[in-house]
Amino acid sequence: MSEAEILKRYWGFDSFRPSQDEIIASVLNGNDTLALLPTGGGKSLCFQVPAMVMDGICIVISPLVALMKDQVEGLKEKGINAVAIYAGMGKREIDILLDNCIYGNIKFLYLSPERLLSELVRERISYMNVNLIAVDEAHCVSQWGYDFRPPYLLVSAIREIHPEVPVLALTATATQFVRNDIAEKLAFKNAKVFVQSFARKNLSYVVLNDEDKHRKLIDIVKNVKGSGLVYVRNRRETSEIALFLKRNGIAADFYHAGVEKDDRFKRQEDWKRNVTRVMVATNAFGMGIDKPDVRFVVHLDLPESLEAYYQEAGRAGRDGKRSYGVLLSNKSDQMALEVKYANSFPTLDEIKKIYHYLGNYFQLAFGAGEGLSFNFDIADFCKRFNIGVIKTIAGLKFLERDGYIVLSENIFLPSRVLFTVGNED
Ligand code: ADP
Ligand code: MG
Repeated sequence: MSEAEILKRYWGFDSFRPSQDEIIASVLNGNDTLALLPTGGGKSLCFQVPAMVMDGICIVISPLVALMKDQVEGLKEKGINAVAIYAGMGKREIDILLDNCIYGNIKFLYLSPERLLSELVRERISYMNVNLIAVDEAHCVSQWGYDFRPPYLLVSAIREIHPEVPVLALTATATQFVRNDIAEKLAFKNAKVFVQSFARKNLSYVVLNDEDKHRKLIDIVKNVKGSGLVYVRNRRETSEIALFLKRNGIAADFYHAGVEKDDRFKRQEDWKRNVTRVMVATNAFGMGIDKPDVRFVVHLDLPESLEAYYQEAGRAGRDGKRSYGVLLSNKSDQMALEVKYANSFPTLDEIKKIYHYLGNYFQLAFGAGEGLSFNFDIADFCKRFNIGVIKTIAGLKFLERDGYIVLSENIFLPSRVLFTVGNED
């Protein structure tokens, strides 16, 4: 079957999205491929479809159990044979599963990168007829990515076992620096790189400065129809804000990593099914949760980094309909930043981070591949923008303005600039 036939037969979709068909063709031609698509852009299909075209099994490296489960369930529903190894599975169970991957007709094996530490797993992989190695959330391979997971480096071990098998790395993170790092760490040969614009046309980013953030939150929740997500920085706040929303007649719930596992799942499901309208959560909630109709993502506290902000706000509007990312800040947030900033002078590590975040920032603002491009390396960057200059950039010049976007702990840019992003109507 051709790619288009497989897309139609198993997924019921009539056409590929921009870039998907090119990425799939590249993989089918046996190229190592790096695919940079925004959140919700449809990265999964980029490895799932070619793996269905080819004989053999596709090994998928994935960072989160929730993510693996979602995908394995999704594939099974389509009648495709997929399995995953989870923590907590017995040794015998894993043994049988790996045997099935060698002798059975399993099409997808999902693994956490940590599994590659196991000699047994690596040995069994060597007997498998692997058609593709897919590395999902591939920014985890880079220490410049905001979610570095050292075991991701072990992917190169499968490469050694199956040197002829192409690798497809997928991520929504796309600074030139991280991009190069991924290609290097995964030992890419003549890699093909596909970059899609990171501008989200249907997503409006708004920064609101208001001393009474709670009141503002209610305003937003009452004015924007549909499902929403509210991010806060600590666990206690999640329950407090959820309670506050409930008192205002809004079906809200909360979620953080400390909530009991079964309970967490139920809460997530209720929100997905729109029984709960607004979920208040820490950043433990989100990665891999594919809810298409999220209409707003509100940040009640400043996010960890601009990159984290892009990911978190990006959970709104996956269905392409008008949605909002709203960042609420007040004077004390800004003061805290100023103090933090005043107390720190960037170290070389900071500079590297800044480089990283700036890269993302510009891609976010202008869309990757358009506008400014950041092709120079750290040394060059430091030469052009010496420490003092960076301090000035991130310092008073921007502090005078009334809205802020955090780029790292102590570096921020004015929200005014961000306002233009994806705000086209
Ligand atoms: P990503 O991993 O890039 O965040 P996913 O692979 O989870 O995105 O896909 C996001 C959503 O887009 C899914 O609901 C998926 O079914 C849908 N999708 C992907 N490709 C297509 C397509 N060609 N046509 C229609 N829907 C698609
Ligand atoms: Mg994905």
